Amino acid sequence: MSTTPRRQGFATAQVQAGYAPGQPQNTAVAPIYQSNAYEFASLADARDLFALRKSGNIYSRNANPTQLVFEERVAALEGGRAAAAVASGQAAVAVTLLALAKAGEHIVAAKQIYGGTVDLLQDTFADWGIEVTFVDQDDLDAWRAAVRPETRALFGESITNPLAQVLDIQAVADIAHSAGVPLVIDNTVATPALIRPGEFGADFVVHSATKYIGGHGTSMGGIVVDLGTFDFGAEPERWPQLTKPYERVRDLVLWDRFGADGFAFVALVKSKYVHDLGPSISPFNAFQLLQGTETLELRMARHSASALAVAEFLATHPAVATVHHPLLPTSPWNDLAKRYAPRGVASVFAFDLVSTGDAERDWEKVQTFVDSLEVVKLVANIGDARSMVAHPASMTHSHLTEEQFAEAGITWTTIRLSIGLEDPADVIADLARSLDLVSDVVAEAEEALSSTR
Ligand SMILES: *Cc1c(COP(=O)(O)O)cnc(C)c1O
Repeated sequence: MSTTPRRQGFATAQVQAGYAPGQPQNTAVAPIYQSNAYEFASLADARDLFALRKSGNIYSRNANPTQLVFEERVAALEGGRAAAAVASGQAAVAVTLLALAKAGEHIVAAKQIYGGTVDLLQDTFADWGIEVTFVDQDDLDAWRAAVRPETRALFGESITNPLAQVLDIQAVADIAHSAGVPLVIDNTVATPALIRPGEFGADFVVHSATKYIGGHGTSMGGIVVDLGTFDFGAEPERWPQLTKPYERVRDLVLWDRFGADGFAFVALVKSKYVHDLGPSISPFNAFQLLQGTETLELRMARHSASALAVAEFLATHPAVATVHHPLLPTSPWNDLAKRYAPRGVASVFAFDLVSTGDAERDWEKVQTFVDSLEVVKLVANIGDARSMVAHPASMTHSHLTEEQFAEAGITWTTIRLSIGLEDPADVIADLARSLDLVSDVVAEAEEALSSTR
């Protein structure tokens, strides 16, 4: 008989990883440990825990047992070694990049990333002396050219929002590695059910678990997974935060102590950045996000199939100018989507209504369309069980200049959808009814145009 344990599948890991029922209550489901702190067995035990000589619970700002189950589970799904869960996706991105780059150092990021991350990097990180260069994610030469001696990380999203552009993760990972720095991928939109960035060379994955991982629009959370691939010991002088004695625990070098276990980076994130800045996840939210994780694969298959059906419908409608869905053969990201996401892409994508050529009239038209939707809700969120619509130009991207709009590929008639778990026929009927209301405007505009010819 073989002694190697059989490697379990994704669906098994999503319901079991990180939790084994045990004493005292043998609860089949990981319970909510709603406790701020933990009793030590003795003062000697407390001393060992504080010196990181021993792992265990001290205080829930640093870690909580419900959170630990969530961390292990998502780490298993991403094929990673260790993870740190925090209060939001925004916090996950912040603590990850802060642990890699300090004042005077530099990050290269795709300019197509989430708006909140752009704010963090170009505004708050600038205040803190960390410089960021934004590049077009499809321009590999631009990634290469942006790297400098002070660069400490490359950052992008596996699938972007709202235009669902697919990143060539492997190519960007190769650029990062030839520069001796890790690639960090925000995998929020794809989730590990569709893309596992670690299989294409990424070193760290971050998530807004608020979105598809939680999946039900109830709980904020974020997580960073260390995929265990980046060797901070290869060029130790670049990474003193891990390879020099750790300021707050004398005589401890994080990389020496935890590197082999794959826990060094997560130990730095938790014991320094989460400890000092305080974006801890609540035990209740960790529990809610765990429930979402258990059905992730099933939900993503449904989200993905429904969204493709909606995209195919939209592509046939005369009131629609362009559908930005990477599985449509017309998409510039079709080849990358097929390569990176053979199980399907997520349900966040956008489309452009036919423009009247007049900004005022377009605004009227967009309002008529959005406000008449009934099944699809007007909400500034994605990855929920409910289908949602948003208008980037007046909502998420409203602070951009006209030039930035053009660069981002967003127009005044771009509409973002996040297709939920309803019957796709109901979602399509709702969109069809609202599109018909604005098709008159199209017909009128065409008529007006032809009468002036
Ligand atoms: C929402 C989102 C974030 C931020 O996450 P929060 O949980 O809202 O803080 C980061 N990245 C992406 C891609 C997102 O969609």
